[in-house]
Amino acid sequence: MANEVTITFLGGLGDIGRNCAAIETDEALLLLDCGQLFAGEEQPGVDSILPDVDYLFERKDKIVGCLVTHGHEDHIGAIAHVLDRGLEFPIYGSAFTLGLVRYRCEERDVLGRTRLVQVADDETRQIGPFSVEFLPVTHSVPGGLISAITTPQGLVLHSSDFKLDPHPVDGRRTNLPRIGALAEDPGIRLLLADSTNSDIPGSTASESSMGANLADVFRAAQGRRVITACFASHMHRVQQIVDAALDDGRKIATLGLSMRKNVALARSLGLLKIPDPAFFDIENVDDFDPGEVCVISTGSQGEERSSLATAASGTSRWITIGEHDTVILSSHPIPGNEERVAKMMDDLIRRGAEVVHSGLVEIHTSGHGKRDELTTLHTVSRPEWFVPVHGEYRHLVAHKLLAESLGLSPDRTLLAQDGDQVVLADDGLSLRRDVTSGAHQMLNGRFLGPDRGVLDERRILGQQGFVQIVATVDFAEARQVCDPWVESRGWLDGDDAEDIEAEIVMLVGEAIDKELRNPEWDRASLMRKARRAAGTCVNSRSNRRPMLVPVIIDI
Ligand SMILES: [Zn+2]
Ligand SMILES: [Zn+2]
Repeated sequence: MANEVTITFLGGLGDIGRNCAAIETDEALLLLDCGQLFAGEEQPGVDSILPDVDYLFERKDKIVGCLVTHGHEDHIGAIAHVLDRGLEFPIYGSAFTLGLVRYRCEERDVLGRTRLVQVADDETRQIGPFSVEFLPVTHSVPGGLISAITTPQGLVLHSSDFKLDPHPVDGRRTNLPRIGALAEDPGIRLLLADSTNSDIPGSTASESSMGANLADVFRAAQGRRVITACFASHMHRVQQIVDAALDDGRKIATLGLSMRKNVALARSLGLLKIPDPAFFDIENVDDFDPGEVCVISTGSQGEERSSLATAASGTSRWITIGEHDTVILSSHPIPGNEERVAKMMDDLIRRGAEVVHSGLVEIHTSGHGKRDELTTLHTVSRPEWFVPVHGEYRHLVAHKLLAESLGLSPDRTLLAQDGDQVVLADDGLSLRRDVTSGAHQMLNGRFLGPDRGVLDERRILGQQGFVQIVATVDFAEARQVCDPWVESRGWLDGDDAEDIEAEIVMLVGEAIDKELRNPEWDRASLMRKARRAAGTCVNSRSNRRPMLVPVIIDI
């Protein structure tokens, strides 16, 4: 149909991460976020996981711009990569979001491939055939924006990551009245809304309610050094930590590159208020009495090389943790990081620190709205059609059921997944499955990949090690020049390996001699025989299955 609009989900529907959607007419494609997913234990050695960006490269001449709803990595983390690989487009977002995008683009030296277009709250921009109104929304980072996108098929409202905080720290509330007005006129054709907390009843606590609890913790830590950690982009939390510290007569230092850069950015934009005299450089931390200091650090997720984790393990250049320290984790481990955070807490406590975390005192609240807030959004926006986004499968399903319980007919709520496309046409919304593969695209250094085979090899190497068998053969004479030898890494301790290696040398030597008497022998058959002889011995004697690497040297 001539004027249909499609939305293709290139990530974010099935995992929490790599949010990216392409909104298209015949002639134009508008990107809605372009984030990354952090690799887990299942992807050893992978730097990050990208949306399925092949779809974008196939349509690179159509791209009119990218809206970035807010500055979290799951929304901006793939931008520098796709620019680096050859795409070019302007990026629209709030001042703080674009500041973070700028850092990422500078790191990859790709700023020249884009134009950063700052938009103000409630501003409308024409981007190709789309008219986009940007509305303020509350979330756990400053400058979040709801996008109200006027398309040839009516208004598409994207909630961004949101909660409905009645008392935001910066006073910038979600513009629900405007959503109500848009619902009235022209009406909202399609709602795409955050599903992260759709299976949790109630509403999320206001960010500003953390301040009093943080102040209590600071009061209890009087005379002790306070080291706090939270997400490095969470400037509302940082502001409340700063306020509690200043009330307690402390001075502030940041620890960790991203915290330092983000605090500088937020201060330059007037989003974070810290008087200059209250600020000192972390390298002077030992000049102060413990009770005069508050350090604000990265590493709340226990990431291995983060500032707090290195302090906990005793390898920090700046901070030596001891009995005079109170460490406040103003965060909650995101799924998958629980063990790392637990280990870091053990390390901190072993060094004598007192650790206060969000399980003990309410010093963290989510940035995502729970069921009551989602209910409010649905009630105010009254969309004709709804697609739940931003969530794992169970969150998407819970959100669909919630929308139905609020009166939306089940056939008006489509459950899409990564790789699917929804089509908005005169006769309504329909779903096309698997328009693109939806596959995880992994970033391996500067390369896309590795594929399954290489990941499997990494897992075997990580868990079982490898055994290499080298045989030296005079091909012209069809005879072995010397005994084979064996090299191994990560397989068995030296003494245990020695006996088995001697046996491998003997068995492989015999197998190769035997094969060389076969008139059909060649390099491949020698490798096969060497592998088989070594493998039988390795498996039966060590009861392990290391990677076997036969090498035949021809002299
Ligand atoms: Zn977010
Ligand atoms: Zn997100």
